[in-house]
Amino acid sequence: MATASSSDVSYPPAVDEAERQRLVQVIKDWSIANGLTVRPPPAAVSATEAELASTLAMTAPVTLFPSPFSRSCFEEAQGAQEPYNELYAKISQDEAFLSRVVAEVAGGDEFTTKLWGVHERVKKEGYTHKHSLGIFRSDYLIHQETTEAGGEHLQIKQVEFNTIAASFGGLSGQASSLHKFLSKNEYPLLQASSKVAAATGYSLPDNTSSRDIAAGLQAAFEVYNQSEPVYKGLPRCVVFLVQDGERNVFDQRHIEYAVEAPVFRVPFSQILKQTSVDTSSPRRPLLYHHLRESDAAPGTTFEVAVVYMRAGYGPSDYPDESAWEARYQVERSSAIKCPTVLTQVAGTKKVQQILATPSDATTSELGRFVPDTNSQATLRRTFANIYPLDTTSAAGRQAREWAQDAAVCRKFVLKPQREGGGNNYYKDKIPAHLQTVPAEHWASYILMELITPPPVANLILRNGQIEQGGVICELGIYGTCIWSNADETSTSGNIVRNETAGYLLRTKGDQSEEGGVAAGFGCMDSVNLV
Ligand code: ADP
Ligand code: MG
Repeated sequence: MATASSSDVSYPPAVDEAERQRLVQVIKDWSIANGLTVRPPPAAVSATEAELASTLAMTAPVTLFPSPFSRSCFEEAQGAQEPYNELYAKISQDEAFLSRVVAEVAGGDEFTTKLWGVHERVKKEGYTHKHSLGIFRSDYLIHQETTEAGGEHLQIKQVEFNTIAASFGGLSGQASSLHKFLSKNEYPLLQASSKVAAATGYSLPDNTSSRDIAAGLQAAFEVYNQSEPVYKGLPRCVVFLVQDGERNVFDQRHIEYAVEAPVFRVPFSQILKQTSVDTSSPRRPLLYHHLRESDAAPGTTFEVAVVYMRAGYGPSDYPDESAWEARYQVERSSAIKCPTVLTQVAGTKKVQQILATPSDATTSELGRFVPDTNSQATLRRTFANIYPLDTTSAAGRQAREWAQDAAVCRKFVLKPQREGGGNNYYKDKIPAHLQTVPAEHWASYILMELITPPPVANLILRNGQIEQGGVICELGIYGTCIWSNADETSTSGNIVRNETAGYLLRTKGDQSEEGGVAAGFGCMDSVNLV
């Protein structure tokens, strides 16, 4: 496959010092003016300037050029999103399957066990929500393989599937717009750019991720609005559950501002203060209370139609029992949750491993969830090899040996059931880590083959400094899906809405193992299709 970097034209185009400085200044201004920004870290603002801190934004780390990305891989990932949305909507409704998953990882994983406890409590009293919303992101790396004939074959491989708090949908469209702007106004001015333009040009697809994700939230709001009003005249709203001190706030704001319905941000730690469940109604509506400063003045109350979680995905959001009580309060209400506990558990790496572990067509879980053979093939092509670490399956016993073998482990990454970056163990760190875990708890991890992307070069602007060199590009495709939940009268719920919702390209230096932008390693990018 031809790529801009494999031809005689070097990509990105070489820039001299003056050109680099000009590009950086243009990017800084564009980013601030268009909200391709994050809040500065507290350490960057001194205590005397605390007042000022809330008025400051800084540019999000971003590449100077869009990274070359295989067009066929990009299209394949886009084409897989609707089948993926439907697959995860179905998994979310299969409580028996998910309870087996939880039982398998429970030994070494208190967080997933606690989360499941919330589901069991609500199940006992009966769920009252009728619909669920998924805002998903399926993450991929391109796997480059040398064929027997000596050619290079590129295949998109899934890194993970996110079902909770998938971030950067707000900023990723801005990164695409920035590169489009530069390709129109700045790249043509570069001395070396005419060669790139003549060879490949810039092929920059539209990316409307924040608008598309907002449209999913708005659609869920309207689905909820079709239900009979419990209260006459009480306005309805969407609630974003967020983390205190979130630096990636503008990413969330881009989505919030594109939702038509009223949106209120509630810190996860304030759920019990700012919301309540009205148990006098069998529907158990969730109420949002806008509290006034003075206790004497009555607050304003809204009925919550949709809860969108940008928090609650990891143990640090649950410092004590009251945080679990708060999650239970949301879960038992009639509000449409994005996600429910079941959908969150569907997003565990254990589920991804079960789907990907090769088995024959009659026994595969994928085949059970996706009977259509075309969709099944579309999804299966994106699977990397992933293995359990149990003692009951042959695959698990084999993987336990690999994980402890100093040479073989270099092909793998070891993952616990966690989200948010910084939790995985790579290559030769695997055996040492497993030594610290009781062997009976190894089954709470999965072992995944490393994906080896093709070499790409780029320049990254981070904290005002330029980093230059080899990079790795991770593509995320967003999807939104609304489904009605299975109940006693129907064994499977129905998909009400299923959409692909733009993309994210996150790029990191090729020496870094983790790629999270918020974690400080990755940066925003966009694709230049080749
Ligand atoms: P998290 O839930 O913490 O985001 P991920 O599974 O996405 O965990 O892994 C974090 C990062 O590690 C990814 O963004 C990617 O850069 C790298 N990574 C994960 N799995 C693989 C893999 N199989 N091959 C290569 N890199 C991987
Ligand atoms: Mg990830």
